[in-house]
Amino acid sequence: MNKQLASLMNEQIAKEFYSAYLYLSMSVYLERKNLKGFAHWYRVQAQEERDHALIFMYYMQSVDEDVDLLAIDKPDADFESVSDVLDRTLKHERYVTSLIHNMMGVVIETRDFAAQSLLQWFVDEQVEEEDNARNNIAQFRITGESFLYNMDQQMGARVYAPSAKLTQIAPK
Ligand code: MG
Repeated sequence: MNKQLASLMNEQIAKEFYSAYLYLSMSVYLERKNLKGFAHWYRVQAQEERDHALIFMYYMQSVDEDVDLLAIDKPDADFESVSDVLDRTLKHERYVTSLIHNMMGVVIETRDFAAQSLLQWFVDEQVEEEDNARNNIAQFRITGESFLYNMDQQMGARVYAPSAKLTQIAPK
């Protein structure tokens, strides 16, 4: 694996764990506001982010590349409102998309087609992540504070399931 890609991938593992940490921080805030459904949704999101980190880690192992687990930054905890949490989620996902796209640029340049295939999964995943974040913002705008309970119940119905990608790439 290209050295620049290996270092970006090691950083990405930490960024995905940071995402999990950020969403756990949001879940703590939401739980304190007694929005149990929202808090649940963010805990599920955190599990997915951890899975993203593991997918990158397992990929590196499967191509015999050294994994370097870097420090995970402390997540923000200064949320102002539910709306602020939802906005910051979209902002964060857009940032993650930019990181994935940056790596995609490197693999295309270095003709690393195996890594390109892996990253294509993440490119598609990010389309979904941004779409989910935007949908939550839109729904919150429609329901507003008066129907927050309904939206909270709906958010609480989210079910965690490990992605097929994780199962496929996990060490046997
Ligand atoms: Mg992610």
